[in-house]
Amino acid sequence: MIYPNEMSCDTCGKKVSELRRDLIDSSYNALNKPPLWNCQDCYREKKARRLKERDNT
Ligand SMILES: [Zn+2]
Repeated sequence: MIYPNEMSCDTCGKKVSELRRDLIDSSYNALNKPPLWNCQDCYREKKARRLKERDNT
């Protein structure tokens, strides 16, 4: 069991007190994947990257 105050970011592995669930884009097929938890930095980075990818499509 992971305690809320000792969670590790699934992307960088950093231990942080607060994680954000990686469910940014509604088109993200979350049903087939386990939810990813990201620290603030990774969440922001992924969000920016995802927005950029969508713009390029
Ligand atoms: Zn991270």
